[in-house]
Amino acid sequence: MKYYSLNKQAPKASFKEAVIKGIAPDRGLYFPESITPLPLSFFEGIEDLSNHEIAFNAIHQFVGDEIPNNKLRTILANVLDFDFPVIEIENNVATLELFHGPTMAFKDVGARFMAQCLGYFSENETSTNEVTVLVATSGDTGGAVANGFLGVDGVKVVILYPSGKVSDIQERQLTTLGQNITALEVDGTFDDCQKMVKTAFLDENLLQSMQLTSANSINVARWLPQLFYFLFAYKQTRSQGKEIVFAVPSGNFGNICAGLMAQRLGMPVKHFIAATNVNDTVPEFMRTQEYRPKPSTPTISNAMDVGDPSNFIRIRHLFKDNFKALNQNFSSYSFTDQETKEAMLQIHQNSSYCTDPHGSVGYLGLKKYQETHLDYYGIFLETAHPVKFLNVVEETIGTTLEIPPQIQKVMGKEKKSIPIRTYENLKGFLLGN
Ligand SMILES: *Cc1c(COP(=O)(O)O)cnc(C)c1O
Repeated sequence: MKYYSLNKQAPKASFKEAVIKGIAPDRGLYFPESITPLPLSFFEGIEDLSNHEIAFNAIHQFVGDEIPNNKLRTILANVLDFDFPVIEIENNVATLELFHGPTMAFKDVGARFMAQCLGYFSENETSTNEVTVLVATSGDTGGAVANGFLGVDGVKVVILYPSGKVSDIQERQLTTLGQNITALEVDGTFDDCQKMVKTAFLDENLLQSMQLTSANSINVARWLPQLFYFLFAYKQTRSQGKEIVFAVPSGNFGNICAGLMAQRLGMPVKHFIAATNVNDTVPEFMRTQEYRPKPSTPTISNAMDVGDPSNFIRIRHLFKDNFKALNQNFSSYSFTDQETKEAMLQIHQNSSYCTDPHGSVGYLGLKKYQETHLDYYGIFLETAHPVKFLNVVEETIGTTLEIPPQIQKVMGKEKKSIPIRTYENLKGFLLGN
């Protein structure tokens, strides 16, 4: 499979090149050259397929022959070794739980898949060409990437996170692993971290001495495997015979864009709802048809505090920049922290179900859409375990949460990070290694 850059100024890349580069030389996002729908029989018989078979069928065309089929199956078996249950909480309202992985946020699948692909590609490198994965995190990406890449030969991981601005659990998840993972604790905000990473990717001097790649959802190997979630949900809900809509709590819009890819593969879905917090660049676009990025505002659903969502361009491209076509398939609404907490409390009281702040935003998006579309069966994505946002969840619902074993494991470990302040500090660190 070839990938082209959405900026159209760079040569086409193979899957391998796209994964290793992360972003095209013209700064564009890579996009697959073709999307071939899966046969109708695949969807009609999906209940009889294992998650591993579903995933293999869905991802195979995007990898092509660049990873042998048996190796790809092994990778998928390693990546997908936990459950993705759909749980009905009200009539026509269900949640797809994506937090049963090692770091308890949905990013585990993409991070693991990318890590395993990179690991495979570097195994077959004859040179000592080590790849360095450089990633900025506002919380969940860092832990998922650290966990996914831990112990992968030929790959070094450097994570930048804003000091004092991630939750205690998130910080432990990215600073306690050691081995090939290093955490740089930045005296600054998430935007500062992201700026440093972007500067590094443009630094010719640096790029000459090392192979740098990104593990953000711009990387096709992190983005595409997220389409599995939607197929797994379809498998579990197809038999109720109603039209399905998905509500996806969105920040960088990679997850929902993967859902739209599943629809493009032929999965019957009526509509997608992108639910955001007050960082409402996309809801504004859907209202005004004007895309105006803005600085991000901090919220209680911090993994979605994004003012210029990088994957939205892929969504527009998927609809050939035709607003009418996009609008038929896709809606977007934004909600305040207050509304998010109220929803969390209401769900807990009415359904005895505990959502995290991101899932609560997804729920609100679904309910808003269902006001005018009563008969659709709605699935909102629970993208993180509520325990990752312990303080705000416990305070809102007035109950203490039980700490699951994955989280308990990191609670007692010692944090190791290297403090940095400037881009020169980062560059010095990278070149000194
Ligand atoms: C990353 C993240 C999101 C946003 O996903 P995007 O693909 O960036 O839209 C939502 N919820 C949680 C918990 C996350 O970690």
